[in-house]
Amino acid sequence: MLFGRLHKNPIQLPVKPVEKWVYTTCGYCSTGCSIEVGVNKAGKAVTARGVETADVNRGKLCLKGIYEFEVFESKNRGVVPLLRKDRSDGFQETSWDEALKKTASEISRVQAIYGRDSFAIVSTGQIYTEEFYTLGKLVRAVIGTNNYDGNTTLCMASAVSGYKRSFGSDGPPGCYDDFEHTGCLLAIGSNLPEQHPIIYYRLKEAYDRRKFPVIVVDPRVTMFAQLADIHLPITPGTDLVLLNAMAHVIIKEGLEDRNYIQTHTNGFEAFNALVDQYSPEVAEPICGISARMIRKVARIYAEAGAAMTIWTMGINQSTHGSDGVVAINNLNLITGNIGKPGGTSLSITGQCNAMGTREFSSCSGLPGYRLLENAEDRAFAADFWGVDAQHFPEKRGLTETDIFPAIERGEIKGLWLIATNPMTSMPNSPKIRKLLEQLEFLVVQDAYADVETAESAHVYFPAALWGEKTGVFTNTERRVNIVRKVVEPPGQAKTDLWIFSQLAKQFERAKNIHFSETPEAVFDEIREASKGRLCDYSGMTHDKIEASRGIQWPCNASQPQGSPRLYADGRFQFEDGKAKLIPLPFVDNNEVPDESYPFWLNTGRLVEHWHTRTKTGKIGNLNKFSPTPFMEINPRTAARLGIQAMEIVRVVSRRDSALVLAQLTERVAEDAIFIPMHYYNCVNRLVLGLLDPYSRQPAYKQSAVRLERVVDQKTAAESILSERTY
Ligand code: SF4
Repeated sequence: MLFGRLHKNPIQLPVKPVEKWVYTTCGYCSTGCSIEVGVNKAGKAVTARGVETADVNRGKLCLKGIYEFEVFESKNRGVVPLLRKDRSDGFQETSWDEALKKTASEISRVQAIYGRDSFAIVSTGQIYTEEFYTLGKLVRAVIGTNNYDGNTTLCMASAVSGYKRSFGSDGPPGCYDDFEHTGCLLAIGSNLPEQHPIIYYRLKEAYDRRKFPVIVVDPRVTMFAQLADIHLPITPGTDLVLLNAMAHVIIKEGLEDRNYIQTHTNGFEAFNALVDQYSPEVAEPICGISARMIRKVARIYAEAGAAMTIWTMGINQSTHGSDGVVAINNLNLITGNIGKPGGTSLSITGQCNAMGTREFSSCSGLPGYRLLENAEDRAFAADFWGVDAQHFPEKRGLTETDIFPAIERGEIKGLWLIATNPMTSMPNSPKIRKLLEQLEFLVVQDAYADVETAESAHVYFPAALWGEKTGVFTNTERRVNIVRKVVEPPGQAKTDLWIFSQLAKQFERAKNIHFSETPEAVFDEIREASKGRLCDYSGMTHDKIEASRGIQWPCNASQPQGSPRLYADGRFQFEDGKAKLIPLPFVDNNEVPDESYPFWLNTGRLVEHWHTRTKTGKIGNLNKFSPTPFMEINPRTAARLGIQAMEIVRVVSRRDSALVLAQLTERVAEDAIFIPMHYYNCVNRLVLGLLDPYSRQPAYKQSAVRLERVVDQKTAAESILSERTY
């Protein structure tokens, strides 16, 4: 079992006696690596290895995947349901029956007094698709609130919105195999080697064979930027201008694919009129990339034969994240780069099953990419579940980022949080605690009893973790893979599927609605509900998925082995089958540095940590690499401000302040700092978090801050260590 550099200084896990290897799929990021977990005679998970025959990872795993089996033994797992009368009381242990009864009666009470939408639900991208589907059925068909969302609004909502606006449906069109065929890879706001290390391995393998140009657009000199052929250190928040200017050059120089545009798109004239205003000379002072370089990369992209764009949060987490995604799609549509090997738009998703929630959780609609706004889709779901179609709202309700303001306005009185931790992940995080405390009823469902949100909860449901249950995830390239149960959940912790189906039984109105109770039976429902849809699962079974090491949807009778790419025939999901070219004027509405707050604050991920560290913060082999919040600061800036390496510094924004260690590095420019997103009570105190108008996703990556030296380092260190450093 090797990781680290490919050929030298490998780290080897100690060999442990293994009784059996259990096939499963990694539960951290959306790369979707196949893992075999080694279980010893006593039934304890003791080691792990990548699956050689899995096309996604070809035997490799990153640090998180290698040590994922250690989550089963991690501390502070929830092992019994907890209940308290009010927040001044301590939690008391209770039975599942009592906890479920109390929750159902509180949901009914809140809805009876304040209306059906006064109870909100925020879920996750971490549970299985069968669980998402069942939660969606419970929420849409039984509880009936329209204020139901996933935390995926914080990471992938802009990609969803952009795909819908351009192609008529969500669904990433490309796949990892596109690396093998592309003539140019453009990566915007994606630090692939750290965020998705195994996707990066796939890219690097292809690159080493064929040496196609790799262009990385990022304000920071990330690990990916260091490995690129061209790095464009763009001014934060201006990707749209760069993309418009690239389209300008391509059209002015006649490099566009006229035939593709005419046959497969609408809107070229209006689009052309808009990009005509974005010459490279206009773009240069806005995005900080020279006109000469913009022309160069535009020509490389258009003349590559097949070119692809990947992106992550650098595009999505912006006030114009959705426009950024549409601009990428525009670029690929005018160059004929959708649906062909090596030519695609490919969002690199965050959480292991953010795709599954998009497909079947009914958060933003109804299962199988069906829409609440569409009467036929409402009628299908009503008939399929055995409810009255009038029961469904006719448009989606609030997103997670709008639910918290609605709590503040007093419109939402009760909340159910499922495997998500807004106290660390939401912008303006100190306010989130106050809002949770304002609720009349809060239920928290999580694998860890020490999750920050539980401190404000009335009921706590202990949930099983990844690998303590069976179900499927969908990865970035639409590959559905199976997560087999490796070990039993601890104590009385239950699978999310069990919790949802048992809670349903507490409601009188669920009496005539069937809730399947095994993952296999729910999967059969999903297959049926997805038949004929873009995300068609009808040709899959759990066993077939495992045997294939994952299958990419659509998978049905005519494509029994699945489909690597969408839109290969040039037919999109709008009624006339054509994609839309959409003009996108740039509106600069972000906070920018000024005299009082002179530095850009950028945020992002570390390879060893996962989101809010509820899991990785407790795994010694991961947490030891970065247990303490820090910022990257340019050495010249540090010298100018008299800041020493590893000194604690106070970072101050217009919202709040946070203490971090100073790490001196040239990865950031002199007018910028970078702070990882993972730490409780840290960077999300500072960010502005303005919302994208289409996706409602917050802008985490463009805020202005100032830096203050801290005289009393000892007290500052104590303050940092008193936070959740695990
Ligand atoms: Fe897991 Fe992602 Fe690492 Fe693969 S790359 S092992 S899916 S965390």
